[in-house]
Amino acid sequence: MLQRTFGFSAFRPHQEAVCEAAAKGEDVLLVMPTGAGKSLCYQLPGIARGGTTLVISPLIALMEDQVASLLGRGLRAERIHSGRERSECRQVLRAYLDGALDFLFIAPERLGVPGFVDQLALRKPTLIAIDEAHCISHWGHDFRPDYRLLGQRLPQLRPTPVIALTATATPIVQKDILEQLGIPRARTFIHGFRRTNLAIEALELPPPERAEKAADILADPARRPAIVYAPSRKAAEELAQKLARRFSTAAYHAGLKAQVRDEIQAKFQRGLLEVIVATIAFGMGVDKADVRTVIHLALPGSIEGYYQEIGRAGRDGKPSRAILLHSFVDRRTHEFFLERDYPDASELGRIHRALRDEPVPREALAASLRMDAEVFEKALEKLWIHGGVEVSANDELRRGRPGWKAPYLAQRARRLEQLEQMGRFAESPICRMLQVLRHFGDTGDDGRPCGQCDVCAPRDCIAARFRPPSAAERNQLATILRALAETDGQSTGRMCRNLLGETPEHRRTFETLLAGLVRGGLIRLVPDTFEKDGRTITFTRAWLTPTAKQSGALDAVLIPEDETAAHEAPRRRRRSRRARSSNETKTTRPDLSSPLAATLKAWRLQEARRRKVPAFRILTDRTLAALARARPSTEEELLQVSGIGPRIAQTYGRQLVALCRG
Ligand code: ADP
Ligand code: MG
Repeated sequence: MLQRTFGFSAFRPHQEAVCEAAAKGEDVLLVMPTGAGKSLCYQLPGIARGGTTLVISPLIALMEDQVASLLGRGLRAERIHSGRERSECRQVLRAYLDGALDFLFIAPERLGVPGFVDQLALRKPTLIAIDEAHCISHWGHDFRPDYRLLGQRLPQLRPTPVIALTATATPIVQKDILEQLGIPRARTFIHGFRRTNLAIEALELPPPERAEKAADILADPARRPAIVYAPSRKAAEELAQKLARRFSTAAYHAGLKAQVRDEIQAKFQRGLLEVIVATIAFGMGVDKADVRTVIHLALPGSIEGYYQEIGRAGRDGKPSRAILLHSFVDRRTHEFFLERDYPDASELGRIHRALRDEPVPREALAASLRMDAEVFEKALEKLWIHGGVEVSANDELRRGRPGWKAPYLAQRARRLEQLEQMGRFAESPICRMLQVLRHFGDTGDDGRPCGQCDVCAPRDCIAARFRPPSAAERNQLATILRALAETDGQSTGRMCRNLLGETPEHRRTFETLLAGLVRGGLIRLVPDTFEKDGRTITFTRAWLTPTAKQSGALDAVLIPEDETAAHEAPRRRRRSRRARSSNETKTTRPDLSSPLAATLKAWRLQEARRRKVPAFRILTDRTLAALARARPSTEEELLQVSGIGPRIAQTYGRQLVALCRG
């Protein structure tokens, strides 16, 4: 059937086992990267089982492509979505009920049309395929509320087997998919995330130096064609202009007209453009096999997104590179946007309390609440996603479920966690590919280091430059090795506290030293976890390698050359952040996650106890967060922090400045 119907000579890796399970009627969850050939895994079993396969798919364009390709293979395929006439949809439904279709594609929102699923249930499909299944989980990065209807509607179509397909599910999303779909015992296949022709390189670099670095990397023609991902439209435009002087380059972002975007994409595809500098909007439809390099000009927001983007390099199987330029300033930028996009739950609460069972026009509600327009918009959207408000077709709002808060808070926390994971990915000296594989929970993988990333093969790096350790660094390195010789497998956090100290600077120095030891083949870093208050906390253990046990010679240790430059980044940050802090803290939730915020909190508690007043009488959370962000180093600077008045400055000025200076 593979050859006759689909014209393929052989299965791609893992397809056969998946097809077998699905054809036999087992529920299946399939997680494989984009381009791995997931569609076949429901199409072939669908044909094998006979009858109609029902496919739920979130994008009209995707549906149209699939239907066209199936029709081209002589199969009977149809689709129902909002882009089609009502009469067409009725005809398709009739054909379905007559048993005249091999495949019926529907958009998820159809499940909400009264009576639609009842109709389908009159003649149950023989297989149900759910494409892009991660959309059902709000833990994923592309949650679609309509997908939630699946959980309610599927039972009507059971016991038909279900196959859920996605490219981006992490273990927690996988679990959620199974729960939401009500297929807890599904066979789960998670495969193919290891890319053997992709060398990943992460390099810490202050933002102002990144464009130059990207230009240097791409100067070598062997590193093109290339895609550069920029953090903003402006950054994309600027770099594209700079590069265009040397080779054919275009910027690509959501601010361009669709037609222009299509033209650029087509030119790139045909080899008429060598470099695209894009924001995240680029790449969905790109299937260019010979992309040699993907550069990220800033830290992406999640490993899922990052992996999809670097996955566009080297589809032809030839050696290619992904270079991530980052520093921890990037995390702050993300957090800023995150706070904007996920308003404080109290804002959602205000809207929810103002709602009644009788519908009110949205505008009227917005006006009566006198909320900042942007905040209102975001808060309302989130409230809707979590069921706290019902929006009618004519834009009127009614009160929804009361239980919106917990899932919203969970989602918000989850976004922060994704960011945290991405940051850790970039900063941890652990084989990049192994980190990705662990992140996705690739179960079929053998766990060997990739041998070509900046951790495994520092000498082959094209962006990062290394130097031997200084005399002082050699002393510190030797101390670490001695500590491990005494007790192997120590937690790196504890070692840092014992050997250096626990300020952020100490930690960064320590990370640099550890990374040097990893590169020198002297230690291995292994992630580990423990449970605390129902949460899983990740930490890292360091183990001596056999080489270290034999000789312990430091000759092979390498330290990044621009390490000092990168370390200056946090100080540079202070000025620009302070300028922003006064207006940004008003409507967003205070960020108390930084080490400095923790220090300030500890100080506040002590002071509150001493003076026997509640802590918030000393400093509010908002002020505390603003302080931690602004890091004032003089009293003048302190007074510019929002929430700090002359009284506080007079009473605590010296102490606060001292704490902020660290
Ligand atoms: P995914 O959904 O996993 O991103 P697709 O199902 O769209 O991937 O498949 C990607 C491409 O691979 C398609 O062009 C498809 O025709 C092709 N393909 C799938 N399976 C095979 C196979 N066994 N042999 C050759 N080509 C295949
Ligand atoms: Mg697909």
